[in-house]
Amino acid sequence: MDGTTRLVGIIGWPVAHSLSPAMHNAAFAALGLNWAYVPLPVPPGAVEDALRGLKALGFAGANVTIPHKEAVIPYLDEVTPAARAMGAVNTLLVRREDGTARLVGDNTDAIGFLEDLQAAGFDPAERCCLILGAGGGARAVVYALAQAGAQVTLHNRTPRRAQALVQALTPHLPGASLTALPAGTRLTDLDLAAFDLLVNTTPVGMWPHPEASPWPEEVPLPSHLTVYDLVYRPAKTRLLRQARRAGARAIGGLGMLLRQGAAAFTLWTGEPAPLDVMRAALEAALREAPA
Ligand code: NAP
Repeated sequence: MDGTTRLVGIIGWPVAHSLSPAMHNAAFAALGLNWAYVPLPVPPGAVEDALRGLKALGFAGANVTIPHKEAVIPYLDEVTPAARAMGAVNTLLVRREDGTARLVGDNTDAIGFLEDLQAAGFDPAERCCLILGAGGGARAVVYALAQAGAQVTLHNRTPRRAQALVQALTPHLPGASLTALPAGTRLTDLDLAAFDLLVNTTPVGMWPHPEASPWPEEVPLPSHLTVYDLVYRPAKTRLLRQARRAGARAIGGLGMLLRQGAAAFTLWTGEPAPLDVMRAALEAALREAPA
């Protein structure tokens, strides 16, 4: 690092566990870019100061993670339509023009999910998709799928949150087919023959509870289904093992994490992201993470 090093980082609370510094710093090194990516722990209540700090300290941008993805929005100079629709920002770009710094908020989670799904050979256009969960991850997934022309059905433990998500996204997605399953619908009641894609956006099955699955063991998964689990730790969740046993296609969440990072990398640097380097760095960081 020297006086010309460009800085980016990740704003969250906590951020010590984040895999993003390893992924981005490996990419900068591979491309010979004099950039550095630093964890930026920002406690709740300090978001506005942190954003002013990014501008004042000459940062080129930042990622934003839990719990600040929504809280940053009121303090930004511009928010992209995608981030506005999702109500969440995961990437900030600092634009400097005529001595003034402007903060632009974007969201690369949806594109990260969509690109990973497409890279696995699944084209969502006109396909029927069942989403488990209605939190932040679901918002990105539902937005991405609806934008790509899929028919999207949501099931959530708290049904009114799924209904609220549909209501929030619908005005931003004219013509989209979004449905929240009515309260009382059990997963065991569903006929999966009607669906092409099942996406888990709940944390069920995530470390330290890898024995859990969001899908009931007694309901078989049809072999024509593609199953995408946003959970990436462990890499092979119980849900993915259920899918593979049923002969269904199973995709873990590491690719989404990778591709949302790659999209942010390109927004900041203007360079194509070195995906293989970033994937290897993520996998190494996961192996080294405390178990
Ligand atoms: P979140 O905003 O807290 O939402 C969690 C959702 O899961 C809520 O709808 C919640 O239901 C549901 N849920 C939680 N515990 C449950 C349980 N025991 N049984 C059934 N439903 C349950 O979390 P998030 O930010 O969306 O993250 C969810 C998971 O996705 C995490 O594992 C996260 O690491 C992963 N993720 C991965 C990526 C990636 O890049 N691969 C990106 C984003 C998120 P209620 O509404 O009833 O509380």
